[in-house]
Parts: sequence; structure tokens; C-alpha cells
Amino acid sequence: MTAPDGLREVDVLTVVSVAAVTPTVRRVTLTGTAEAVAAAGPTVNLLVPRVGDPAPRWPQVARDGRVVWPIGAHGIALRSYTARRQDPERGEVEIDFVLHGDGPAAAWAAAAEPGAVLGVAGSGDLALRPASWLLLVGDETSLPAINRILAEAEPTTGGLALLEVAGPEEEQPLAAPAGVTVRWLHRGGTPPGESTLLVDAVAALDPPGGDVFAWVGAESAAVRTIRTDLRSRWGLGRSGHHAIGYWRRGRAMSPAG
Ligand SMILES: Cc1cc2nc3c(=O)[nH]c(=O)nc-3n(C[C@H](O)[C@H](O)[C@H](O)COP(=O)(O)OP(=O)(O)OC[C@H]3O[C@@H](n4cnc5c(N)ncnc54)[C@H](O)[C@@H]3O)c2cc1C
Repeated sequence: MTAPDGLREVDVLTVVSVAAVTPTVRRVTLTGTAEAVAAAGPTVNLLVPRVGDPAPRWPQVARDGRVVWPIGAHGIALRSYTARRQDPERGEVEIDFVLHGDGPAAAWAAAAEPGAVLGVAGSGDLALRPASWLLLVGDETSLPAINRILAEAEPTTGGLALLEVAGPEEEQPLAAPAGVTVRWLHRGGTPPGESTLLVDAVAALDPPGGDVFAWVGAESAAVRTIRTDLRSRWGLGRSGHHAIGYWRRGRAMSPAG
């Protein structure tokens, strides 16, 4: 509800179950009102409380979407995630968290159990333009988004998905149209954010002609290099690609308050 000062309370989602998807990905199923679930994606700005905080001091949200933080310490971090599945009728939303070992969101997800809460400060779309040929490039953090893109693509869509994960144990089943080739790239012992697998794989491709859209979500430095390749060698303009850093090696996305 929006108060006369233009500020509204954040939606709060409550964990109903957690499950291991792979050794480093934990699926958290949350429940909320139909409206809150419908508004929590596809990309979602989560308000992540400190682990075990029974009564988080939530911020409020201004009319323009700005988060208005409470005065003083609150321990809440704002992080971007992807609703892998939203079911407003059942009041359920699923989010897959990479347990990368550091940071408030990964710590929250590792400890999450039924009854834990998350706030929702806003949402966005996946910035995809449907095209007859898609290039999808990502790592574990963008698999939920790429999964949604593939699941929602026209059955006649062709393309290539280049997906970097640690090893075969981190691969996940994807519902891709028959014409989309899914290629898993294993970084093995190389730490996340330090491999050049995605950059090299895109550099090795010959740009296809025709109606192409490229979607890239991975570590920021890799995304920057791939974006440059797509803009120069592939000649893709703004409407032909969406390439954004999903995380930054060695840097938190924003401090917790
Ligand atoms: C639109 C969008 C959607 C996203 N969707 C998802 C999603 O569905 N699932 C998901 O898991 N992530 C997703 N991410 C990525 C997620 O927001 C970042 O990984 C974020 O940094 C996690 O916050 P944190 O509090 O755990 O770590 P932070 O406090 O941000 O970072 C702490 C430390 O952890 C490191 N770090 C952060 N992420 C990783 C990683 N994946 N591997 C190794 N080290 C890491 C940082 O470099 C830093 O050193 C998405 C990002 C965007 C922009």
C-alpha cells in the first residue's frame, strides 16, 4: 500500500522449502500473496536480511522505485536475483542461489530454512528481444534467466547457449527448443570469474547472419570483453544484444547497511 508521502512497504516473501539443485546451487521456494509473487520477477531486487534476523527493519520504496533505507543499522543488503518460476495462483516463487561462499545473499541462502523471510524492492524483465537465432552466454548465476528464456522461446528458435559451470555435477536440465544447441563449458579448478572460457568461446564463433539476438549474463569483466566482441566483430547494435555483469569478482554488489 502507498502512503500519502509516496512511500510503500516492501513485499515480504517467506521460505516454504529449500532443496539442493547441484552441489553449489540451492533452490529456495518462497510464498507470498498472488500480487507479491507476480511482481517478484523475472529479475527481482531482493532485500536480504542478516542470517537469523527474526524482525528485519525493512526499507520502504518510493514512487520512482528508489529504496528508502531506515535510519541506523539494519543489516539488509540489496541484491539482484532471478525468479526461476513464478506461480501467483499458488502464491509461490522459486529462486536458485549460487552458494559462492561469501556475501550476505549467499550466506542467507546457505542458512535459509522454512520461515525465513526476504523482502522484494522491485523487479525487471530479462531484456530479451525475440529473434530467430539466439546466442545465450552465462554462468551459474544466469542459468535461471537462461532457463526462462529457453523455456519461453518459440519452438522454431535456433541458436547456441554457452554455459560455464565448475564441472558436470553443476549442469542442469534445460528445456531448450530443438534448434538451440546447449554447450556446457567446465572451468574445473579455475576459480569462478577467473576463467576465459566464455570469452574464448564467443571469440571462436563466426557471427551468424540474419535475425540474431545475443544475451549475456556472467562475471562483469568477461561480459565487458564479450560485449565489445559482439558490438565490433558481430556488428550488433543496442537492439541486437543485452550484456550485463551479474557479479563482480572480488567486489560486493553493494554494501549491507
Ligand atoms: C539481473 C541479475 C540477476 C541475477 N540472478 C541471479 C540468480 O538467479 N542466482 C544467483 O545465484 N545469482 C544471481 N545474480 C548474481 C548475484 O546478484 C551476485 O552473485 C551477487 O553478488 C550475490 O550477492 P552476495 O551478497 O552473495 O555477494 P556480494 O556481497 O555481492 O559479493 C561478495 C563476494 O562474493 C563474490 N561473488 C559474488 N557472486 C559470486 C559468484 N557467483 N561466484 C563467485 N564469487 C561471487 C564477489 O566477487 C565478492 O567478492 C544475478 C545478478 C543480476 C544483476
